[in-house]
Amino acid sequence: MSRHPDAAVVGTGPNGLAAAVTLARAGLRVVLYEQADTIGGGLRTRSLFDSDIRHDTCSAVHPMAAASPFFTAFDLPSRGVRLLQPEIPYAHPLTGGRSVAAWRSLTRTAEQLGPDGPRWSRLMGPLVERSAAVVELLLSDLRHPPRDPVAALRLATRVLTHALPRSPFTTPEARALLAGVAAHAVGPLPSLASAAVAMLLGHTAHSTGWPLPEGGSDRIAQALAQDITAHGGEFVTGHRVRDLAELTGIPLVLLDVGPTEFLSLAGDRLPARYRRALTRYRYGPGAAKADFLVSGPIPWADPLTGRAGTVHLGGSAEAVTRQEREVAAGRPGAAPFTLVVDPAVTDPGRARGDRRPVWAYAHVPNGDTRDPVDLVRRRIEEYAPGFSDTVLASRGRAAADWQAYNPNYVGGDIAAGALTLKQSLARPTLQADPYRTPLPGVYLCSAATPPGPSVHGMCGHLAARTALRRHHGLRTAPPLSPPRPTP
Ligand SMILES: Cc1cc2nc3c(=O)[nH]c(=O)nc-3n(C[C@H](O)[C@H](O)[C@H](O)COP(=O)(O)OP(=O)(O)OC[C@H]3O[C@@H](n4cnc5c(N)ncnc54)[C@H](O)[C@@H]3O)c2cc1C
Repeated sequence: MSRHPDAAVVGTGPNGLAAAVTLARAGLRVVLYEQADTIGGGLRTRSLFDSDIRHDTCSAVHPMAAASPFFTAFDLPSRGVRLLQPEIPYAHPLTGGRSVAAWRSLTRTAEQLGPDGPRWSRLMGPLVERSAAVVELLLSDLRHPPRDPVAALRLATRVLTHALPRSPFTTPEARALLAGVAAHAVGPLPSLASAAVAMLLGHTAHSTGWPLPEGGSDRIAQALAQDITAHGGEFVTGHRVRDLAELTGIPLVLLDVGPTEFLSLAGDRLPARYRRALTRYRYGPGAAKADFLVSGPIPWADPLTGRAGTVHLGGSAEAVTRQEREVAAGRPGAAPFTLVVDPAVTDPGRARGDRRPVWAYAHVPNGDTRDPVDLVRRRIEEYAPGFSDTVLASRGRAAADWQAYNPNYVGGDIAAGALTLKQSLARPTLQADPYRTPLPGVYLCSAATPPGPSVHGMCGHLAARTALRRHHGLRTAPPLSPPRPTP
């Protein structure tokens, strides 16, 4: 770019990219900086052991990209990103070689839950009916009155009920199914935050689904990057911005970074009070990731498990609750809650002959230094005897090692900050506009702002809209859909 750009975005995770798309579509000249050699943040896919087999480094499954208002407007399918839906969004193995599954079909899910079937339908059905409003509410800046009060009321009553220690479900199947989805909050169970996560993710299993992008998560990053470049944006990779002084002269700066990195970038420019507020920000437990190259589908004891996009390993609801509490208290266990994805179940193109990738991560205490490969392998083996014999190669990344890979994942906290009720609002500090900082023209737009973690792009999109409103007087969102081909 010959003259100063109109805006800089630091970090190219889904939120940095969504912010840049929004700014570029409003006509601003945007430059993006990324410390890694490739763009994408949590949306990277690469070969690890075998050039033909690609592994998702971070995110693999995309319920939020399928549902989020930003991605709905951006329209991934019309940009060639096929979102492939597993028939079973998630399954949960139990003891005795059986498992319980959340099907796309709510009716089919309820049918296997005995006396809890009608309860599951009454829990999820009304949210499914108003799915767009429920998603809009939870994937917002959490500062505006709901546009659909009926959806808000349905959501609030369910969150309050499921935040209580006594579950309304009576069967081990329904209790485990819900505990597995609540555990995505990565914190003590039950809580208001975990109940909100359970309602959001739980109902989307029966509405917009839990898809995998054909070919891998990086397809989403590529689609975003193409739109940015098509609208004049430029990328600078392999460059870690270390001081905001590097961006002097650029009127708008959006930071796809967490509070820890922001404190370092801003140095002593921040007022003491704001600095103190940022230092009070809390990180949650960590993720310990294991990638495997295997010689066949995972030999789950229950073949039903093998039809699921995502598998939750934790056993009974009581066991999952115990594991999550221990981890949140900083106590490493030998059998942590673990998520497993065999991408080729949903996207057969991810396999080559018999060889295929397996993606998994376990919840561990923040900063845990254990290599997770054996931990995760044993956990899978418990429910899939013989899995170890299929492993051709493996690689682990301990929670303590994530921050060197991405400064946003402090101590391996892949949510970029603990998911508590307080920190859902005070993300990263308690203020009317969560994206603004005391520095003129500087905004935060990472998952450390509302609505928080996952690949939905809403933190970036909402931060960019705030910046456009304040600096350019733009009150409406720019169009985000793909430009129509000229006749
Ligand atoms: C193992 C793992 C599994 C996950 N699974 C899922 C999943 O299946 N589905 C889902 O929806 N979500 C998942 N997530 C979470 C999801 O990836 C994140 O919530 C999401 O990527 C956050 O987006 P972001 O843009 O805020 O930040 P990030 O994706 O973390 O991107 C931030 C980017 O900024 C760069 N950066 C930071 N500081 C600087 C600097 N100073 N200069 C230049 N560049 C900088 C980083 O290198 C990074 O590329 C997972 C995450 C991990 C790690």
